[in-house]
Amino acid sequence: MLVSAKEMLDKAKAGHYAVGQFNINNLEWTKAILQTAQELNSPVILGVSEGAGKYMAGYKTVVGMVNGMLEELNITVPVALHLDHGGYEACYKCIEAGFSSIMFDGSHYPIEENVAKTKELVAAAHEKGLSIEAEVGSIGGEEDGVIGMGECADPKECKMVADLGVDFLAAGIGNIHGKYPANWKGLSFETLDAIQQLTGDLPLVLHGGTGIPADMIKKAISLGVSKINVNTECQLAFAAATREYIEAGKDQQGKGYDPRKLLAPGAQAIKDTVKEKMEMFGSVGKA
Ligand SMILES: [Zn+2]
Repeated sequence: MLVSAKEMLDKAKAGHYAVGQFNINNLEWTKAILQTAQELNSPVILGVSEGAGKYMAGYKTVVGMVNGMLEELNITVPVALHLDHGGYEACYKCIEAGFSSIMFDGSHYPIEENVAKTKELVAAAHEKGLSIEAEVGSIGGEEDGVIGMGECADPKECKMVADLGVDFLAAGIGNIHGKYPANWKGLSFETLDAIQQLTGDLPLVLHGGTGIPADMIKKAISLGVSKINVNTECQLAFAAATREYIEAGKDQQGKGYDPRKLLAPGAQAIKDTVKEKMEMFGSVGKA
């Protein structure tokens, strides 16, 4: 059964580790991530962006697929199904469809409007037992066509949004979505520290977890980051493994064209990536 992400993230914050949010795109992705979490006895958050939800034929389809897998694959570790960077309407759709967690990304609204909408959605989510993440300060890079500048959040605004009753908070600290450019300046630990001092026990979220060096990840966890989002890295690993299979001509040998064979190396690459991240984040054995 799906669970809200609140309890697993409160435990992570208290235990000084982080839970990974791995975004899903289809059945192979979902299965690979769930199996790895179960094998490593780790809690896990499945992220679904609005674009991925549309791609997978809608939020209800996603809920049906994930719930079916939890049962048929005997997944017993805590699993949350979380809307990633949801707009106002998508949040309501996911609450209704059976998600167990949502993120309302109101970072593009003026702070007053972000606050008003977040407050309303906190009440709607909590009424149905879902956890809710909010965002302050836009996160750089591109996500579903929205390009942020990678700014650092204002700690006072973080405190204001935290006080609305959100369960965890994403704050920009120089992190960006997608691949990091060669001239990236790194995470602003000064900002993160200032945010944590004002928000206390609230779990903080680091978006754009692809390619951040392990030492920066560990330092971020020590300063209160309890949820780390990983998306691009699984996509790159899947694409590289699939390319290798095709370039080696394996799809033309025997029944190598069978999708169950063709997609297997990519699925294994996702598993390897998820395992590496769970070990780095410290969530192994914490289910
Ligand atoms: Zn994000």
